[in-house]
Amino acid sequence: ITNTLNTIMTGNIKDKEAFQRLNFLYQAAHCVLAQNPENVELARFYCFTQKTISKRLVLRQDPSVKRTLCKKCCSLLVPGVTATVRQRRCSRRQRMTMVRCLSCGQTKRFPNNPGYQLWVDRPEAQLENQPQLDNTGNSQVTLPAQLCHYCTKDFESII
Ligand SMILES: [Zn+2]
Repeated sequence: ITNTLNTIMTGNIKDKEAFQRLNFLYQAAHCVLAQNPENVELARFYCFTQKTISKRLVLRQDPSVKRTLCKKCCSLLVPGVTATVRQRRCSRRQRMTMVRCLSCGQTKRFPNNPGYQLWVDRPEAQLENQPQLDNTGNSQVTLPAQLCHYCTKDFESII
């Protein structure tokens, strides 16, 4: 069981380092855009690298990060700089926030629903992410990246 724990520990540390690098790339993209709005290409390069690394390591990107990246051209979507944001009424009660990428024209839509909760934010999703030990002592680490990848995908195709 010590070996199992070690495996889990080292796995976490590796993930932590990777997450720190991804976070750095994401912050860097924000920084270069803030310094000069013409650094769109550089910001896109950072975001593209970040996306590629997280895909290769099967790490889940935070939904708040995914929301600010254009899924078509990997641009960092900053309202007024690289994206336009407008409100659209889609039914009598429901309104949408439309975020349009100025580089490629891809539009993201978010329902204006204050009560809406991402699946990953719900308590049952947190339970899924816990490494579980079965009777034999073997660790069954569920792959949160895959689960969340699917649910985020669902989220995007629904709205
Ligand atoms: Zn785009």
